[in-house]
Amino acid sequence: MTTDKDPMGQAIADFHKNGKASRLRVLSPMLEEDEIPVKTLFRTLGGMPVIEQTALRQATGRILDVGAGAGCHSLALQAMGQPSVTAIDISPLAVQTMRDRGVADVREQDFFTLDGQYDTILMLMNGIGIVGTVNRLPAFFMQLDSLLAPGGQLLCDSSDICYIYEDEDGFIDLTGIEGYYGEMTYQMQYKGVKGDSFPWLFIDPETLGQQAAAHGFKMEIIARGDHYDYLARITR
Ligand code: SAH
Repeated sequence: MTTDKDPMGQAIADFHKNGKASRLRVLSPMLEEDEIPVKTLFRTLGGMPVIEQTALRQATGRILDVGAGAGCHSLALQAMGQPSVTAIDISPLAVQTMRDRGVADVREQDFFTLDGQYDTILMLMNGIGIVGTVNRLPAFFMQLDSLLAPGGQLLCDSSDICYIYEDEDGFIDLTGIEGYYGEMTYQMQYKGVKGDSFPWLFIDPETLGQQAAAHGFKMEIIARGDHYDYLARITR
């Protein structure tokens, strides 16, 4: 990714330098314009949702933080005394910021082309979103199989976003939707920098469990959040 196509990285770098940032806008053809409060990417352990705190407590061994952003989880793990934490992100400015903030092992690296062996792989803040679409799950599980050390675990959170289809009477109608209902398309914009649009997957726990089983993995839900969100552990 080049920095002129890296709105999220620009926002992260700005916030890191200046302690504030402009609006990080999230555009989607299916939804009204939204924004990501940049400050939340800099959350500390105490400011994290319970499901993220749970994930960090369960992380052991060689830990990989996928799509690490501003590095909040990697920094918290280092502060907890974890000796082996690797953070990866495809955003060059996020990577540079993580380095500046003291993440010891940071790489500008796409998850799907990474080599190595890890005991715990973390994909937090709907980190499994990077899979994009349900039809990319087979490639995802293949890559997971190559990266997980024997006995290793993936800890990931996502949300069942069926609620966005709820009508005024509280009725959820998922018929008429083309493809899987958690497949979104987003584009981000920060100041004058607009990124390319990209697919982003939200997956409900039942579908994730079925897909995991179909690819030789087990899934268990280890925590639930307060709004359709959950933390899953996936093992071989
Ligand atoms: N995990 C962080 C940031 C979440 S935003 C947090 O919880 O605060 C998602 C991040 O994933 C972005 O920084 C984006 O650049 C990164 N990303 C997207 N696709 C990726 C891929 N294929 N490999 C690695 N990182 C990716």
